Amino acid sequence: ASLYKVDGWGAPYFYINSAGNMSVRPHGAATLPHQELDLMKVVKKATEPKSAGGLGLPLPLIVRFPDVLRDRLESLNAAFEFAIQANGYRSHYQGVYPVKCNQDRYIVEDLVEFGAPFRFGLEAGSKPELLLAMSCLTKGSPDAFLVCNGYKDEEYVALALISRTIGINTVIVLEQEEELDTVIETSRRVGVKPVIGLRAKLRTKHSGHFGSTSGEKGKFGLTTAQILSVVSKLSQVEMLDCLQLLHFHIGSQIPNTALLADGVSEAAQIYCELTRLGASMRVIDVGGGLGIDYDGTHSGGSDLSVGYGLDEYAATVVQAVRYVCDQKGVNHPVLCSESGRALVSHHSVLIFEAFSASQPASLELRQNLVYYLDQLTDDSRADYRNLMASAVQGDYDTCNVYAEQLKKRCAEQFKDGMLGLEHLAAVDDLCELVAREIGAAKPVREYHINLSLFTSIPDFWAIGQLFPILPIHHLDQRPGVDGVLLDLTCDSDGKVDRFIDGRSSLPLHELGSIEGGGYYLGMFLGGAYQEALGGLHNLFGGPSVVRVSQSDGPHCFTVTRAVPGASCADVLRAMQHEPELMFDSLKRRIEEYSLGDTKACAISHAFYSMPYLVYGTHLSGDGMVSDSEGS
Ligand code: PLP
Repeated sequence: ASLYKVDGWGAPYFYINSAGNMSVRPHGAATLPHQELDLMKVVKKATEPKSAGGLGLPLPLIVRFPDVLRDRLESLNAAFEFAIQANGYRSHYQGVYPVKCNQDRYIVEDLVEFGAPFRFGLEAGSKPELLLAMSCLTKGSPDAFLVCNGYKDEEYVALALISRTIGINTVIVLEQEEELDTVIETSRRVGVKPVIGLRAKLRTKHSGHFGSTSGEKGKFGLTTAQILSVVSKLSQVEMLDCLQLLHFHIGSQIPNTALLADGVSEAAQIYCELTRLGASMRVIDVGGGLGIDYDGTHSGGSDLSVGYGLDEYAATVVQAVRYVCDQKGVNHPVLCSESGRALVSHHSVLIFEAFSASQPASLELRQNLVYYLDQLTDDSRADYRNLMASAVQGDYDTCNVYAEQLKKRCAEQFKDGMLGLEHLAAVDDLCELVAREIGAAKPVREYHINLSLFTSIPDFWAIGQLFPILPIHHLDQRPGVDGVLLDLTCDSDGKVDRFIDGRSSLPLHELGSIEGGGYYLGMFLGGAYQEALGGLHNLFGGPSVVRVSQSDGPHCFTVTRAVPGASCADVLRAMQHEPELMFDSLKRRIEEYSLGDTKACAISHAFYSMPYLVYGTHLSGDGMVSDSEGS
């Protein structure tokens, strides 16, 4: 576990079990030992052929655990409830889930259902998000907020107003000053009085990658002058009572509670000022930013780590708001947060397979090595002699210098036509041999993975975000090699070569040593943002998805939904191609060439298969999910 820091980032949901497999504690700290689920058993159930009792889903695979989602939501609410009681806070917490983190229907529906007892609501940032939030919230608590953020046109505002007439507690948050005119005019036209919030541009600035939304130069929110202008305009049209919520967002992954306390205190002062100016303020919405600890250090020292947990986060918010409001004699507002990452990251695990790995070059000396080395130019032979001499002395640094010099010189001479391929190969072999003999070079292997980084881990490529990645089995055996992961795309950026512990390679098992074939890896904590941001580079589409709930009986689970990933036809359609017409034209060609039906069938089959590699299933019979272990 310490090799992959599982105890650090995984607790309380993930750990390595006695079989050496990754296991899931679906109810977090409240999970009983017999409720723990072996991830390999879930993967076997999902991917084994139907004839063997499995679901026959192709990899890559996203496994979602709604129980984990419920635990996150309940833990967040419990943390606020505790902080409210402990600090004598005289109002309550009711959060919203920002659907942009993952708009998957079942995630949003689950959160609305699990959140109903807590009046938990949704946040939308665009028209389609608003439509989905409106329809989901018809099944939620009537008090739950629907917070409308993002750029808004008249249609967006009209939709938000209409939602109030069907019993949804919608708040239109002004992100830009101009939106106020649209809200006033549209509310008159539709005949619905709005509940208005405003997003303040705070001076408190978060310095990490995600902090670019904060500070005076942030993209969103109203400056102090704009806030005053909104108040005065609302007062002129006798709608100041509509202004009820103050929102701010200082950026995702807030690294420490000191920064959070700063931001919340500044916002609480603005809240109190708005009350003084006559607005009917009721709610303070502290935005997103509740972070998670990807590297397991809990240090708060980088974008990968936060130095607090849910309890400290909630206590900081409650104490900061209480302090300011008490000072100003203002009633304690309802507390709202828009925590996305912290709610959905843990509940979803991406599983993919490594299907081949580079092997270290043979250590045998190429025939005629000395013959070719002797034919090098004088200066190259001098490098060669110096290289050998420093190797004999065990001086790796000097060896490296001469090896690089020799390789560079020979490459130049090759370009000038002075050397043949055999000479270059002899020099490469010599340098590799010397490096290995001296014990300095443990070669890093390249593991090929059946995955597209651009589809499934886009933040790694786009913003350098790291996620815990590790094998999900054989963890009782010490990995023998170090590797980097190369994806299926024809793109040199499609490579995972940075890991949460700061290393540039990952300890992995030799593929040849894996009994039963397949070598499965998991990417953890990726439930937020990755799916919505993922693209179709090289036309690799989304993975298969299963939802897995813990069920009665020892280590039992139920697969409540199983959906194969996008087919070639699906991804082609997304780029305006028409698979049916494409197939017809190919089929006509086959007929013109008088070829048989089997060729047409092969093409038709390809359209409906997934774009990922298909190879014989590696899952062996042993360890199969028995009836008592999965259903
Ligand atoms: N609210 C707003 C306005 C945001 O921009 C974001 C994301 O950046 C969130 C909420 C969600 O933030 P997080 O995922 O850090 O909770």
